[in-house]
Amino acid sequence: MLPLQNRFLKFLGQTSEEPALLDIVRAEGVRLYDRSGNSYIDLISGVSVSSTGHSNREVTEAVKSQVDSYMHLMVYGEFVQAPQVEYAEKLLSLLPPPFGSIFFVNSGSEAVEGALKLARKETGRKGIVSFENGYHGSTYGALSVQGSDHYSKSFGPLLPAVKRGIFNHFDALDLITEEVSSVIVEPIQAEAGVVEPHPQFLESLRERCNETGTILIFDECQTGLGRTGKGFAFEHYGVVPDIIVLAKALGGGMPLGAFVSSPRMMKSLSVNPPLGHITTFGGHPVCCAAGLASLNYSLRNDLAANASDISQLIRARLDHPAIKEIRGRGLLLAIELASCEMASKVVKMAPRFGIVVDLFLFRENSIRVAPPLTINMQEAEEACSRLLELIEAAAGKRD
Ligand code: PMP
Repeated sequence: MLPLQNRFLKFLGQTSEEPALLDIVRAEGVRLYDRSGNSYIDLISGVSVSSTGHSNREVTEAVKSQVDSYMHLMVYGEFVQAPQVEYAEKLLSLLPPPFGSIFFVNSGSEAVEGALKLARKETGRKGIVSFENGYHGSTYGALSVQGSDHYSKSFGPLLPAVKRGIFNHFDALDLITEEVSSVIVEPIQAEAGVVEPHPQFLESLRERCNETGTILIFDECQTGLGRTGKGFAFEHYGVVPDIIVLAKALGGGMPLGAFVSSPRMMKSLSVNPPLGHITTFGGHPVCCAAGLASLNYSLRNDLAANASDISQLIRARLDHPAIKEIRGRGLLLAIELASCEMASKVVKMAPRFGIVVDLFLFRENSIRVAPPLTINMQEAEEACSRLLELIEAAAGKRD
């Protein structure tokens, strides 16, 4: 039989010609272990997913317990499923008014689709405003609001009436008119290479949306649930959107997405006509049980505060002439290097130094540092030492 790696390349649809090809057999806390017994500190968290650490006992116990009770029963929205209800109630207890209703789906992309549809139904308008270098997923609606044509240009026609503003440029406010149903924005742009909003930018979007009756959607797929040092990134800026999109860490390592709005707005999906969004597996009970256990763990251990503390340590320790800038909040960090070539070299060489890091979709000279929020001081010190050795080696190497 062919080696597993060859069968992976032969039998599975690929996303690029250069997959990382790590063959992980076990993961625990912040560490990944491969088939040959090598261990790696995970500085990616499966792209902002594994916030409460790999194989978190409370999460795995919740999964096992739910699997023993029931798995799929019925499409979303028909039967009363306690894990969904309990998780929704807990999440809503963390959100201010007007939030009061959660629609669970399968992924970030599906949550974006739901949010865009909800805003259209609410306003009866066609237009959408999104931002340069924003990322919202890979389905058609999500692709239509993607902040770059690079990955979408082969798939047109996309949704019409989408206009793209430049993040942090106040000219974008002029695009928000009475024809626009929604503005979709990441409060901190993640795949842009972790770009924070300028003071007043989100506030101005809020004001302009209020003036025009446009729905403001914050995509918090990467920034939500403690990663940036607060429960949700919007809390840093004091700007409350109309719809929040969540995914990534929401399922505690299981696939789960959600869009959240006021109960009044959400109701429009169930009337005139009903079945405004249908999803077979959305809010899968095992995923909701895992997500709730993960959120409870995160709150009890104040992982958001840990994210802020460790962030400071990482920023202080990562001092190297090849590092041009460190951007971000909490444990959503971008380390900017001298060039795209250097960043790509660092990512490729990282496993040899016992760490995994990643690039960003739209900022190729920067590397992502986003470990599980459970990372402690010692692990962070170790990760920084390895990262500095790696950067030193990459800076001195031609290829
Ligand atoms: N929004 C943001 C901000 C994301 O980062 C992502 C995924 N990287 C998505 C939406 C799409 O999520 P998914 O891959 O689960 O569809």
